[in-house]
This record gives sequence, C-alpha cells and structure tokens, in this order.
Amino acid sequence: MGCYRVVQVVAIVSFVLLLPNTHAWGDDGHAIVCKIAQARLSTQAAAAVKKLLPKSANNDLSSKCSWADSLRVVFPWSSALHFANTPKDACNYKNSRDCVDLKTGIKGRCVVSAITNYTNQLLEYGTKTKYNLTQSLLFISHFMGDIHQPLHCGFGSDRGGNDISVHWYRRKQTLHHVWDASIIETEIERFYDDIDDFVDAIQKNITKAWADEVEDWENCRKDDISCPTIYASESVEDACAWAYEGASEGSVLDDEYFLSRFPIVNLRLAQGGVRLAAALNRIFNTKYAAEM
Ligand SMILES: [Zn+2]
Repeated sequence: MGCYRVVQVVAIVSFVLLLPNTHAWGDDGHAIVCKIAQARLSTQAAAAVKKLLPKSANNDLSSKCSWADSLRVVFPWSSALHFANTPKDACNYKNSRDCVDLKTGIKGRCVVSAITNYTNQLLEYGTKTKYNLTQSLLFISHFMGDIHQPLHCGFGSDRGGNDISVHWYRRKQTLHHVWDASIIETEIERFYDDIDDFVDAIQKNITKAWADEVEDWENCRKDDISCPTIYASESVEDACAWAYEGASEGSVLDDEYFLSRFPIVNLRLAQGGVRLAAALNRIFNTKYAAEM
C-alpha cells in the first residue's frame, strides 16, 4: 500500500468514525452486547476503554458498536470479517475449513480470526504501536457481538440465512435479518419499555438465573485471552437447532417461532457481553497496561 493510499484510508476511516450510526446483530443487538460489557469492566479496562473511545462517544461504548457495519460499504474487504461460513447441515465449526472469505477464497479471513487479530493488536496498548487501537477496540466490540449471532456462523450456501426469505408475522424478511434484528425488536416492543429496560432484564438474569454459568462463559481454555472458536461452534449449533429449524424458504414465522427463539437470542446477547468484558479485562490487565 503506497503512502497516498495510507493517507486516503486513514482519512476515510476517520470520516466514518464521525458518522452517526447507520441503521443496519442490528444496531440494537450490538448496543445491548456493548452495554452489558462496559458495565462489567475492571477499573483498569474501563480506564483504557475510556481513553481509546473517540470523544464523540462520550465514554459510551455502545454508541460506537455498529461502527464496523458502516465500514462495510467503504471497505468491502471487511465484510468477510463479520461472518464464518459453515457447510450446509454440518452444524459444527472448523477453523481450517470455515474461516474463509467466500468471495475471494482467501483463507483465514472471518469473524474468528478477526477477533484474534484485534485482541492481539489491543495487547499492544501502552506501547509504541503501529495500530490504531481505537479502531481495534471498536472492531473487537462489534465482532464479539456478531460471533454470538447464530446465523453469522451459518451455512455458506445460503449466506447465513440471507438467501432465505420468510415472513416475520406479516412482513417479508430474510431469515438472517430476523435473527439480526426482528426478534429483538419484537421482544422490546412486547415486553419492555425500551432498550435500557431490556438490558436491565438481561443483567438481572446474568446475576440470577445464569449466575452459575457465567464463570464458564468467561473462561477460555489454556491461557487464551479470547476464544472465538468456541463461540463460533456454539453459534452454528444454535443455527441448526433453532434458526434454520422450521424456517425454510417462504415460511411464516410467528408466535410459535418467536416465543421459543427469543430465550436463545437473550442468552447469546448475554454471553456476547460477558465475554467481551472478560476479554477486555484480560487484555488491559497485562504488564503493558500496568505501566500506563
Ligand atoms: Zn457485523
């Protein structure tokens, strides 16, 4: 990449950082994951996040959690980083097989490798780094949400449900969008006052109904800082058991589907938030951060 290109890219990225979030998990799903995460940060991690966030965020991570989606138009190469693509009906995730950019065939480009990559970049916090760690933070915060959306690790053959048209009640929708946004929107509409009320309810479940499981969610095998392979495996299992199940082309998805699926969505939002916080707490609890 020549010098001019670098300047151009930095200029575009800086410009995009200033844009309001586009309505494109959907914005609500990402905001929920980031709200849950930011409330669980250690003192050290909270200080680092505050320092890295752009001023326009007002120290609210959730306000920038959909930033990576707005980049997809400007940088088409980044699209592959939002997904992993598994073979039809395999219902499991394998790094060597499924972490591939379907458009270019380039291996190692998917949401799993992206999380590892931005984790490694953030570990350079407090050192003279060549990376823009504000972007690294916004990317990892977004991708930790995406990887917990079951259809972001769905079948490549239907582009994670993007090629399956269904009816969400009366409205025509793709199955992917149903899981990105419609289930959450319907849930907030029916059961809660607003998104903060919904986040409160999930946080209560984290400290009560799921309290015994939270430590397991947070832990990675060995001494890993984030363990995206595990999250992708869980997602494709949920995609098979819940998202694709009963949702073939032309299906009408109504209360029967909604009432049995929203608890899965809630669980995945909670896990995404808890794990984003756990990863950031580990990242900023390093010797580098201690030197700040
Ligand atoms: Zn995304």
